[in-house]
Amino acid sequence: MADLIDGESIAARLRARVKCEATELAARGTPPGLAVVLVGEDPASQVYVRSKLRRTVEAGMTSFEHRLPTSASQDDLLQLIARLNADDRVDGILVQLPLPGHIDSDLVLDAIDPLKDVDGFHPVNVGRLSAGTGGLIPCTPLGCMMLLDTVIDDFRGLKAVVIGKSNIVGKPVAMLLLERECTVTVTHIATRNLPEIVRGADILVVAAGHAGLVRGDWVKPGAVVIDVGINRIVDGEKRRIVGDVAFDEMDHAGSVTPVPGGVGPMTIACLLENTVRAARRRRAEPMVAGDEAVHAGSA
Ligand code: NAD
Repeated sequence: MADLIDGESIAARLRARVKCEATELAARGTPPGLAVVLVGEDPASQVYVRSKLRRTVEAGMTSFEHRLPTSASQDDLLQLIARLNADDRVDGILVQLPLPGHIDSDLVLDAIDPLKDVDGFHPVNVGRLSAGTGGLIPCTPLGCMMLLDTVIDDFRGLKAVVIGKSNIVGKPVAMLLLERECTVTVTHIATRNLPEIVRGADILVVAAGHAGLVRGDWVKPGAVVIDVGINRIVDGEKRRIVGDVAFDEMDHAGSVTPVPGGVGPMTIACLLENTVRAARRRRAEPMVAGDEAVHAGSA
């Protein structure tokens, strides 16, 4: 039977640690502040933003909520970001994606001060990640690495396969695995012989958005499987969320993350972690011990 990597409890521990750090920073001046910007009425985005704001406050930080109507112009949004960049109470800025079609997301993300870019999407942070020279790391890939750290001591030389090459999950997670000196293969929709490639993996990270894509006979005995996928399916009368991995077929894996309860809870916890990290850096406070291991390659 594969070990379950319990993202809920690992995320709860991370949130508790972040709260301690936020409290310390508050005692020395002001609490870390996270500004969340939502444009429009997308229901899923509203749910995400609500839970991000709630977790921010629970972690002892200040949250700044900025809601703009769908009709807001690109200039309105750029002006808001300029104000948040200049606001000393704000350590992190998150613009909830997707943005309405008339707004150029790249332009908006590029306008965020890289030191406050807690999503890690700014080209400066993307570049730093690929150069292994520090910066803020996107939350979901950071969460994947923290989960892997709970079951793997030494990454060097392990074969890692990543399914999916998106900028928010696949590519950054591949960079982080490479930084740990894994031998990394990044696969995608056009990859040939995917099952055969996956069979060579000691570590498998799946971020395809395809329910049940990875079958049991693709996975080598003992492999560590991180399932990033979130797929809403209808199962008879019920609606439920499943991952990209056929979870019931993973008995022979070494460890596996469930969906829900695996990577998902880590994403918001890592957003809080990035906010504290951004606050420390902006205030020239030293990073805490243990933090550097998590952010290996991101001094
Ligand atoms: P995306 O659509 O931007 O990218 C998907 C990638 O998977 C692409 O590179 C594509 O080539 C590849 N792919 C798709 N189908 C494939 C197939 N059949 N075989 C091989 N490769 C395939 O998606 P994304 O934003 O990277 O998200 C991927 C999944 O992760 C989604 O289900 C998303 O909801 C989920 N997600 C979860 C979290 C979380 O917090 N748990 C965060 C972000 C994304």
